[in-house]
Amino acid sequence: MTKSNFIKDEFTQYPDHFQEETVIVHGGITPDPTNGAIMTPIHLTSNYHMERIGEDKGYDYSRTGNPTRSVLQKHLAQLEHGNYCTTLATGMAAATAVAHLFKPGDHLIVSEDCYGGVFRLFKEVMQPLGIEVSFIDLRDLDTVRDTISDNTRLIWAESPTNPLLRLVDIAALAGIAVENDIHVLVDNTFASPILQKPLDLGAHIVLHSLTKYINGHSDVLGGALITRDADLAERIDYVTNALGIGSSPFDSWLILRGSKTLKVRYLEQQASAIKVADFLAGHARVERVIYPGLASHPDHKLARLQQAGPGAMIGFEVKGGKAGALATVENVKLITLAESLGCVATLIEVPAFQSHASMTPEARAQAGINDGLVRLSIGLENAEDIIQDLSQAFSSI
Ligand SMILES: *Cc1c(COP(=O)(O)O)cnc(C)c1O
Repeated sequence: MTKSNFIKDEFTQYPDHFQEETVIVHGGITPDPTNGAIMTPIHLTSNYHMERIGEDKGYDYSRTGNPTRSVLQKHLAQLEHGNYCTTLATGMAAATAVAHLFKPGDHLIVSEDCYGGVFRLFKEVMQPLGIEVSFIDLRDLDTVRDTISDNTRLIWAESPTNPLLRLVDIAALAGIAVENDIHVLVDNTFASPILQKPLDLGAHIVLHSLTKYINGHSDVLGGALITRDADLAERIDYVTNALGIGSSPFDSWLILRGSKTLKVRYLEQQASAIKVADFLAGHARVERVIYPGLASHPDHKLARLQQAGPGAMIGFEVKGGKAGALATVENVKLITLAESLGCVATLIEVPAFQSHASMTPEARAQAGINDGLVRLSIGLENAEDIIQDLSQAFSSI
């Protein structure tokens, strides 16, 4: 393992002793030992002084390790109840690092409605390099069992998925993986550690796009991989350094700053999302609402068991299909027409033409993402103002 990234002993005790709110503010963060600064400094240096060759203070080169990045890594490991964390330049850099743990001939099972960029990475970049990939519906556990073969190494799950908010039973999937001696990765970007901690449910790796809820302010990109498995951690750390895709000191600092308000932001956004979903479900212009908090959602029961809440993402279809969807997103005034999610501001988009344009039309059809689907990421505005804006957008279609 590259020596500068993380020290296991410093990770382990914390989460058992403190409640989540406390870990979010303090986990892995201590005043700077050299000057007492209570907020982590940004260590803008690419290299580090050595007294003698081989004698450094834990760091030699910032691609390999940086003190600001180390604090973020410790912090996120505690938040997800892991022992190790590697932070990377983007969520896709995190996916790229995982993809490079495998060799040609290895087989991966990937959720068919995974994030569009993840689909593209495996379909267009990794498959041509000889990695075998099956895209399937992970809710069908019999199909999962049937798809596993001798060369299968990993199941890549997202729960809830983007953008259809489908859930998978993470514990059941982890059980199947353990029986077959393979690993499960859960992309926990949508739920965030506030709703679920996949490692507690038996997953082996948690992936985050820190760009979304954890940073929360739409002003930085970042990714993280968290695990309890020392061997996986070492391999992840090795490829991250080898590929040169770790997170920068400034990005690490911004994410650390944003992350400390994760819980208050997430719960407030979720409270508003519940109101907005109810409004949409009762509106004559709306054909269908996809929200795990509604009893009409196919995975509503699992959501109640597996998650601490329904989250702050909503999908919906308006009457009139594609034309209706485009008119809605172009008519909003307060809500911002933009990709991405988890921002302090409410964002709206049409996945088929934005976040999921990187999937082929056939793959979108297979996954059930139609052209009329609209995705909402509820922000921190007043819920009634969000509802008013949607209402006026519908009335001017
Ligand atoms: C955005 C996103 C990613 C990719 O993260 P980037 O930071 O944009 O590279 C991966 N998974 C999910 C679920 C996402 O929403």
